[in-house]
Amino acid sequence: PLVLGIETSCDETGIGIVRGSTLLANVISSSMEEHARFGGVVPEIAARAHLEALGPAITAALAEAGVGLDEIDAVAVTSGPGLAGALMVGVGAAKALAVALDRPLYAVNHLVGHVGADVLRDDGTAIELPTVALLVSGGHTSLLLVRDLVSDVELLGETIDDAAGEAFDKVARLLGLPYPGGPQIDRAAVGGDPRSIRFPRGLSQAKDLERHRYDFSFSGLKTSVARWVEQKRDAGEAVPLADVAASFRESVADVLVAKAVAACLDLGVPRLLLGGGVVANARVRELAAERCAEAGIELRIPPLALCTDNGAMIAALGAQLIMAGHAPSGLGFSADSTLPVTSIQA
Ligand code: ATP
Ligand code: MG
Ligand code: FE
Repeated sequence: PLVLGIETSCDETGIGIVRGSTLLANVISSSMEEHARFGGVVPEIAARAHLEALGPAITAALAEAGVGLDEIDAVAVTSGPGLAGALMVGVGAAKALAVALDRPLYAVNHLVGHVGADVLRDDGTAIELPTVALLVSGGHTSLLLVRDLVSDVELLGETIDDAAGEAFDKVARLLGLPYPGGPQIDRAAVGGDPRSIRFPRGLSQAKDLERHRYDFSFSGLKTSVARWVEQKRDAGEAVPLADVAASFRESVADVLVAKAVAACLDLGVPRLLLGGGVVANARVRELAAERCAEAGIELRIPPLALCTDNGAMIAALGAQLIMAGHAPSGLGFSADSTLPVTSIQA
């Protein structure tokens, strides 16, 4: 089926068009720069930006795919989780489009969409299941067990406070680096010694592992970096930016990869799929590749344009639901900012 996907859960307006598992268009318009001076995504600004960007993005995606609007077989949209106001803009647009075209509408889960991005790889290899998936972005840090993309996704663990991307953004800010912090810290860490400062590894001690084996915590790490920097400044000493950035990045990468690999080994699932904007991090990629190779785990990382928020992954999940014979969502659903990962389709 030819499916148009709409993604507006955070600051990216994403329109994607797929035919089955083939990617035809992936148009992304981000309001990231408008949030920069606030140091994080401002929901109201994001919602307004979606409203402005959606129409042009749909036109651009149709042109990129070389198809007409009347050829679309179905519409898919992210109905959650995400920012309520931002989600509502996409859901409203998707309903209007489905009604106007008289086509079925599929409301899908954003996090499962990230996993679905993998089916669009141009090497044609289908995702082998079950797989463990680690989704790390500005809004999420979740470890999933995916047995079936359209019917069986289990939440193994998630962050109990800040998301990993959020930690990058906050630590960048306290180091005086601009938003978004991830790429800035990656750059600042070059040449730094990741072992120079031992920052804490959240929820990684024996006592934590009983209850929080697959959960994450990054707010203690952020506080620890803040305190370390403050002490240097109070002592009138220069803050060694590269060392702080490298040591902080090492702590995040270490915990993310350690927990994901542990899940693969515990569950006997020798596959790990990564998704979300933090996957752009050089050290996260390097450490994941190293430890997966050691443990005999196949590591799958979709191209970056499919790792960050995009409409193609939503279209792909919609197409998978159709091909598996699922009924459409109808028009009665709402946006759900806390949609659980077990609700693959709303
Ligand atoms: P959602 O959580 O709904 O998926 P989002 O907009 O936060 O939304 P993405 O756009 O996938 O998610 O990712 C943005 C986040 O990724 C930001 O927090 C940013 O700092 C982080 N990020 C981007 N590049 C890097 C990098 N090289 N290293 C670490 N973090 C990065
Ligand atoms: Mg984003
Ligand atoms: Fe996302």
